[in-house]
Amino acid sequence: MRQGYRPIGNITSEESIPPNCKSSITEAKNNRVKIGYKEYEIIKQPEIIEVKGDYYGKTETDEEKITIASKFSQKVQNQTFLHELLHCIASKYDLSINQDEHTIELLATGLYEAIIDNPHIFTMKDI
Ligand SMILES: [Zn+2]
Repeated sequence: MRQGYRPIGNITSEESIPPNCKSSITEAKNNRVKIGYKEYEIIKQPEIIEVKGDYYGKTETDEEKITIASKFSQKVQNQTFLHELLHCIASKYDLSINQDEHTIELLATGLYEAIIDNPHIFTMKDI
């Protein structure tokens, strides 16, 4: 299964991203993310050219790879990462939204905005 991502709509402006949320995916442990029994390799490359158009990212669930186009801004790369992460989770649970780019995109945007607007939630000990 392959998923390409070319989002539409607005993404929160980069200026509003708190410094502690700017840690890029390049700092992810060994550039891998574990989703259930799968461990996806996160690959950053300037652009994704195998499909016509300007894609921000893609997920290859069988190959366990997430590719992010690094020529875009950090905020776009972060949002793209969340988008691809949702594909990985939807794939794990065989959710039908995995084929619904619009829903995946809205969930990624909502999640990204909630993380950006509430940087304290991951430092609170009681939640
Ligand atoms: Zn997608």
